[in-house]
Amino acid sequence: MAAPLSDQEKRKQISIRGIVGVENVAEIKQGFNRHLHFTLVKDRNVATPRDYYFALAHTVRDHLVGRWIRTQQFYYETDPKRVYYLSLEFYMGRTLQNTMINLGLQNACDEAIYQLGLDMEDLEEMEEDAGLGNGGLGRLAACFLDSMATQGLAAYGYGIRYEYGIFNQKIKDGWQVEEADDWLRYGNPWEKARPEYMLPVHFYGRVEKTDEGSKWVDTQCFEGKELRLKQEYFVVAATLQDVIRRFKTSKKNSSNPLSFDSFPDKVAMQLNDTHPAMAIPELMRIFVDIEKLDWDMAWDLTKRTFAYTNHTVLPEALERWPVELMETLLPRHLEIIYQINQNHLDCIASLFPDDMDRIRHMSLIEEDGGKRVNMAHLCIVGSHAVNGVAEIHSNIIKTDIFRDFSELEPEKFQNKTNGITPRRWLLLCNPGLADLIAEAIGEDYVKDLSQLQKLNELVDGDTFIRDISKIKQDNKLKFAQYLEKEYKVKINPSSLFDVHVKRIHEYKRQLLNCLHVITLYNRIKKTPSAPFVPRTVIIGGKAAPGYHMAKMIIKLITSVGEVVNNDPVVGSKLKVLYLENYRVSLAEKVIPATDLSEQISTAGTEASGTGNMKFMLNGALTIGTMDGANVEMAEEAGEENLFIFGMRVEDVAQLDAEGYDAMKYYKALPELKQVIDQIKSGFFSPRQPDIFKDVMDMLFKHDRFKVFADFEDYVKCQERVSLLYQDQKEWTKMVIKNIAASGKFSSDRTIKDYATEIWGVEPTDLKIPPPSEPREALEETLRAMKKN
Ligand code: PLP
Repeated sequence: MAAPLSDQEKRKQISIRGIVGVENVAEIKQGFNRHLHFTLVKDRNVATPRDYYFALAHTVRDHLVGRWIRTQQFYYETDPKRVYYLSLEFYMGRTLQNTMINLGLQNACDEAIYQLGLDMEDLEEMEEDAGLGNGGLGRLAACFLDSMATQGLAAYGYGIRYEYGIFNQKIKDGWQVEEADDWLRYGNPWEKARPEYMLPVHFYGRVEKTDEGSKWVDTQCFEGKELRLKQEYFVVAATLQDVIRRFKTSKKNSSNPLSFDSFPDKVAMQLNDTHPAMAIPELMRIFVDIEKLDWDMAWDLTKRTFAYTNHTVLPEALERWPVELMETLLPRHLEIIYQINQNHLDCIASLFPDDMDRIRHMSLIEEDGGKRVNMAHLCIVGSHAVNGVAEIHSNIIKTDIFRDFSELEPEKFQNKTNGITPRRWLLLCNPGLADLIAEAIGEDYVKDLSQLQKLNELVDGDTFIRDISKIKQDNKLKFAQYLEKEYKVKINPSSLFDVHVKRIHEYKRQLLNCLHVITLYNRIKKTPSAPFVPRTVIIGGKAAPGYHMAKMIIKLITSVGEVVNNDPVVGSKLKVLYLENYRVSLAEKVIPATDLSEQISTAGTEASGTGNMKFMLNGALTIGTMDGANVEMAEEAGEENLFIFGMRVEDVAQLDAEGYDAMKYYKALPELKQVIDQIKSGFFSPRQPDIFKDVMDMLFKHDRFKVFADFEDYVKCQERVSLLYQDQKEWTKMVIKNIAASGKFSSDRTIKDYATEIWGVEPTDLKIPPPSEPREALEETLRAMKKN
């Protein structure tokens, strides 16, 4: 029998990973040695693994530089409409392998590193994650950059290069402990500082009225990290200065360089949630105070420039800044916001003259409990498009939280279902699966994920089923080895890997999962000889440092793990693992190894989810509620191919109307009662029996997310999961149907929708020739573009 192919060998089989030509390999080796010598000032005798990583990173970066400059030149010459994605978070993760893949250099680099006697995976592991985000919202921005570049949009991401990323999570004695993420300690080969372009960002000061209009004077400049509002204004102020500079230089050759009439034809700005909302009053300030446009003209241009994406309906996550703080920090902006609000309320009053309630609800300024600026209202009023991030969420926006606004301007409200980039979330993280799919249906699916549908033709093919199943098994084995090496924990690679990874939050209901785990434990203990489908339950995610309940949830899960994992009666049937420090690079390892993806938020609370899509694409089945993008996943794959359970949005609303009574479920469901009694009695925390009192109080007295109401159906649904898992062939068929149905969830599709329906730009597959190709190639592309 032939030895199994290593990952490196497998990668070679797909041409999108590039050609392993002798010359290419020689060039990479040369670059590597040159950087080791001249950039890192080391030789092979003294170089550390980190030096090797840096040498390769610089080599790969060299391949980016020429293309990058050519691209800027190309846009300067063609002057297309630019798209600016404004976000306080870009959760990029690692860059080395992603760049090798996207440039088609992976095979050549693999070979070069192999010939140099080094291990590529070891080098890749040296890279720190760029953890400049918290979770879904920040990772979405990163996936969007990948898709915007892939589709040749003249797009730019503007954000903050934080000196410390999202904290590193350690689990000590079962508790979350936060450590600073000093990600720049060894330097960052992927950035280029431009200190020569330093721009002032003003804070505080006062407004002076002159004959020539308003002036913001006596301001102070800050680094922009003292307060969140400062950060938000910092990114906005710096971005707009750059955008306006570029607009003005791109207009140099046109007939009227001082006119802003064409601004919205040349500039689209997308606000990733309300965090960069101050861009709206800032652009107004620039237009009115500096460029001296009249208010109405400025307002018309501003609205046509901005579009706003909403990411949550949870009221505590909607930004509302105290007027008092804004008055001191950004007095001129507050004035502008008041003026915007006045005009807006006048308009509502003229349409609904006696409807004071409506006027109050729709104001940008909330009066109750201290005056605050409602940033979502500012964004809605100041944008020409407002979108939710999955169908169900966009509907909730229209009929619930922003109903009054959608009644006023229904045409503004849209849906753009989120997506994920298949380059990172398949080619990079799951080379075995990516290459098997390429063998089956060709490589074009990488940039047109809808082609995965072709896999439906293979769903009954025994060989294909076996191959898919084998890849999952290999991924599980690899992940198990990783856990053993890094954390000294042993898991059973043939057990069902049941994975729940995401930020820890009450609405995501890690507690519901935990109650199920205890239920399984009790069943094993009750009848140890009964057949049981072995499971490894893996839960991971960070809790916000100040979020007490989320931290208690982590402690509960780890405490349950202590008991379950050390009970000899349980043995290898059930293991509970808390996956420490969940982040992008760990997602890339665990997702391909997952059998069952937990997406169990209370219906109506998860705007979209993107983790759900990553699991689907990587051959996991979903157990989930009809929430967020799960609804569309079920629509695409057929509801019978997901494990759907629990209340629908309407059921939740009805339960709210009736009054949710947790005690009713506790009394009616003996298994739930047993689980809760155990937690209450200190069964999982014998040294501190009442440690989970706050969790119990919450579950019984003020559980906004109604964990008990979905318990029974969830447990039953998990039984169906275990039953199907015993039939590996049927399980794998369902997996194939899910992969085949996951095409909609490519961020390429999402970006095409934003481009055509919001930004007014056309995605193209025109390729800007790299500088290695002659100038004539560039001329030819320019001609082709003009013809288009
Ligand atoms: N954290 C990381 C590292 C992710 O990659 C993702 C998205 O997949 C998330 C958080 C968000 O996960 P979810 O959509 O399940 O909340």
